[in-house]
Amino acid sequence: MNEKIWLSSPHMGTKEQEYVNEAFETNWIAPLGPHVNNFEKELSSYIDKNKHTAALSSGTSAIHLALILAGVQRDDFVICQSMTFSASANPIIYQGAHPVFVDSEKETWNICPVHLEKAIKGTIDKHGKKPKAIIGVHLYGMPYKVDEVNAIAKKYDIPVIEDAAEALGSLYKNKHCASLGNYGILSFNGNKIITTSGGGALVCQNEEKKQKAIFLSTQARDDAPHYQHSELGFNYRLSNVAAGIGRGQLEVIEDRVEARRSNYEFYREEFSNLDGFEFLEEPKNLKSNRWLSTVLIHPEKTGVTREDIRLALLKENIETRPLWKPMHLQPFFKAADYYGDDVAETLFEKGLCLPSGSNLSQKDLDRVKRAVLEVVKER
Ligand SMILES: *Cc1c(COP(=O)(O)O)cnc(C)c1O
Repeated sequence: MNEKIWLSSPHMGTKEQEYVNEAFETNWIAPLGPHVNNFEKELSSYIDKNKHTAALSSGTSAIHLALILAGVQRDDFVICQSMTFSASANPIIYQGAHPVFVDSEKETWNICPVHLEKAIKGTIDKHGKKPKAIIGVHLYGMPYKVDEVNAIAKKYDIPVIEDAAEALGSLYKNKHCASLGNYGILSFNGNKIITTSGGGALVCQNEEKKQKAIFLSTQARDDAPHYQHSELGFNYRLSNVAAGIGRGQLEVIEDRVEARRSNYEFYREEFSNLDGFEFLEEPKNLKSNRWLSTVLIHPEKTGVTREDIRLALLKENIETRPLWKPMHLQPFFKAADYYGDDVAETLFEKGLCLPSGSNLSQKDLDRVKRAVLEVVKER
């Protein structure tokens, strides 16, 4: 059997181990310490030096804290892009609030501004309440239509939570994703473009918000010699060991973006002349980190479905995955309101994520290429 080719696997640089050793040598084996502080500073200076970043235990916890900071409470409504990973929406439920899902548009596959406005108006009409927050997602690293979304958010005075879990290193009009909303969230899970083995961050607009996030993430301890609490706390802080890994990873982020983009270029060059293979181009002024290389398979032209391709590659020990199943189609969220057509649903039906790690060799990519061409040829 050929060696497994993963969809997206961790890729260490050169300094991570050294930073981890430093944590051991200084005994900072805790959810605080110099790596945590430095990682936060380095993240802010990479994304936008005017931002204030809190390092947390996951992207999911970052979204949860963003909702709390945005004032989301029980029985509130929160608008969320439907085409996303469940972690974008789950924290809405943690807060006892109700998600309102919105379809994607075709140019970025992300939240559709037209349906977004319909969802805001619809929620006000149907429930007598204005949504408390909007969660937009830069899915697979492609920035959503930030100007359009922000204009609508401003018109209705609703804060925007920017889920940039998949988009570190992506740019919207030369500005980094995670710096474009009221709150930006990042993930450093093992499959993301850089990893801390597990971790996340919340990017805030001012120091006060950041300090509040840190306060909540460390059990909301009041300033007292004994343990004193006036608010509900969480254990959401990032470990100093993990932050050491993150610091090493952040030093190589640009290489990782270039490697992922070049995977995408390879697939596009090899497959775009095949009838029925469709790639998502970058709209003007948007730069995707191409976290995952994605392709739409139109079976009426290819003669094969994306499932045929996925299963054939699996036999070759190559991991691929359908595009994320939209939240409004998930059994868990079946009671939620939805505004849109079938854009997200069609993406899910036709879309496939190809192996996209920054550590793939040319030999790996050639193996993927041969396996795909083999399936198409057989039809
Ligand atoms: C990975 C991911 C998250 C959650 O991040 P974790 O660090 O795994 O909790 C949230 N949103 C999106 C779009 C993601 O891909």
